[in-house]
Amino acid sequence: MKYPAIQNYIGGRFVDAACDGNQTLAVISPLDGKQLSTVPLSTASDLDQAVQAAKTAYATWSRTPIKERIQVFFRYKTLLENNLNELASLVQEENGKTYEEAVAEIEKGAELAEFACSLPQIVTGEILEVSRGVECRTEHVPLGVVASIVPFNFPSMVPNWTIPNAIALGNCMILKPSEKVPLSVGRLAALLQEAGLPAGVFNVVHGDHEVVEAICDHPDIEAVSFVGSTKVAKLVYQRATSHFKRCLALGGAKNHLIVLPDAIPGMTAQNITASMAGCAGQRCMAASAMVAVGPVDHIIEQLCEEAQKIVPGKNLGAVINRESKDRIERYISEAESQGAKVLVDGRNPQVDGKENGTYVGPTVIDYVRPDMAIAQEEIFGPVISIMRTNTVDEALAIENANPYGNAASVFTQNGGMARYVLDKASAGMVGVNVGVPVPREPFSFGGWNESRFGVGDITGKSSIEFWTKLKKSTIKWNPEAGINWMC
Ligand code: NAD
Repeated sequence: MKYPAIQNYIGGRFVDAACDGNQTLAVISPLDGKQLSTVPLSTASDLDQAVQAAKTAYATWSRTPIKERIQVFFRYKTLLENNLNELASLVQEENGKTYEEAVAEIEKGAELAEFACSLPQIVTGEILEVSRGVECRTEHVPLGVVASIVPFNFPSMVPNWTIPNAIALGNCMILKPSEKVPLSVGRLAALLQEAGLPAGVFNVVHGDHEVVEAICDHPDIEAVSFVGSTKVAKLVYQRATSHFKRCLALGGAKNHLIVLPDAIPGMTAQNITASMAGCAGQRCMAASAMVAVGPVDHIIEQLCEEAQKIVPGKNLGAVINRESKDRIERYISEAESQGAKVLVDGRNPQVDGKENGTYVGPTVIDYVRPDMAIAQEEIFGPVISIMRTNTVDEALAIENANPYGNAASVFTQNGGMARYVLDKASAGMVGVNVGVPVPREPFSFGGWNESRFGVGDITGKSSIEFWTKLKKSTIKWNPEAGINWMC
């Protein structure tokens, strides 16, 4: 094993989970199948220790002025930048993405920390003299101990969607990493400590569904944010809210790119390829379906050329594990057997020297029908399914019928048509001539429909509403003047 057994991080210290050696999982690198470490399956009692540490820290942290709190995140941002190579290598090793993609993930984390540094400029409350001598004012106050549950596909960035904002706003956090990629968060905890975050403000409890359930049930956790598949998002949302917690649960996705005949061929082909194959298709914003409206064969030809430039093990990373590789390849074979045409076939690629890695090559499948499983379900691999339509309205009907609603994009040079698609697409994040329409800070990230349960978005300004509650004060400053509220 390259790294020592992973520990929880509670009250500013790395500590063993209470479980014994049988309650651990191997952490395997998708790049080459080698074991990197072991991760403990913590229990409700480990979680409770973390909650108690967070509660203790909250008494002081919540009363620390926000301008002091954000100083930690100025330093944290610099530490992320100074440790970029090491952090990116760790992400690459445990997740399987390319080094360049891992670098981008760390850089995005730094941008998220930067946004948290701007929070004092944004969270100022309001004040008004509502009657003579009487004023009302509002202020955002923290919630208390909060939890963040994260998926495997961005081991560092998705934790940074929640850590800086929730903590800068005065909360103390328990984070539950994905058991598939548990290493990066340990480094983030160490960097937060180095940045001066007091012990107990940020805690990490590793494990699987058992810890997640304990988080949803714990009476001293006020809010739960979740990012992962729709199936689990629903479970977490139901369970956390059944205990009257605030919950925002982001789920899976099936993102449609609508391509019109007047789209710029080269740019469109490159954007679609980058969207479907980036991070081996394991992005909740990845293009999964292309809806080709009318005569766009010339664009599909270029798309295939672009896809063929992508080589597993070089500019395409691995998918997370064997189970995932098998599942993705099953979808391709099933679609083929149902009449779809595989134009670029990424099944079982040969990656020399990485025979135990879990790679799937870029795959372009044409003549997919909307009723096929590959058109309806989240694939989470470097696969694009092309569906053909004659009109934009037919394309929108396909997009609207899918239960998810993370992203949608249109490729065209016609402004009126682009506006029409933006208006009618049923997705929280939409784009024009953009393959991955991720809003950047200060704009917030969040889908619609079955891609998100709860209110608001997880990053940017919208996250302020999730991580705080509003206190409304009504104050009569000069009672001696005998002025009552109604004057
Ligand atoms: P997942 O749902 O399997 O796991 C997410 C988290 O939930 C992990 O920490 C895991 O330990 C825990 N978990 C798993 N099963 C559970 C259960 N039965 N009960 C309670 N907790 C459970 O997701 P994943 O495979 O790690 O990540 C990929 C998924 O995440 C994809 O569907 C992707 O679209 C989605 N995702 C969505 C967004 C978004 O913003 N909407 C962002 C990133 C990833």
